[in-house]
Amino acid sequence: MTAQIRIDPTLCRGHAICALFFSDAVDLDQWGFGKVAVSVIDSERDLRRARRAAAACPNGAFVVTGADGSVDNGARRPRRLRVRAAR
Ligand code: SF4
Repeated sequence: MTAQIRIDPTLCRGHAICALFFSDAVDLDQWGFGKVAVSVIDSERDLRRARRAAAACPNGAFVVTGADGSVDNGARRPRRLRVRAAR
């Protein structure tokens, strides 16, 4: 089992959430944008952490891909914020 992680710089907005979930593999640059420090994942534990980081990324910038190149993070879209009007 081998997977890879990457951060799409065109989608990343510098929330730094991915670094909280997977600090062993993600560094932050001087502006707080995520940078992948270790791109190859080769343990189940790290794969779970990578998937959690991908699920937590609000912009869908954090991507986990399997050995065959398919996206392995649930193929999620960026979340929409729903706001209800106060009564
Ligand atoms: S959580 Fe997503 S948007 Fe935020 S720094 Fe990480 S990859 Fe970028």
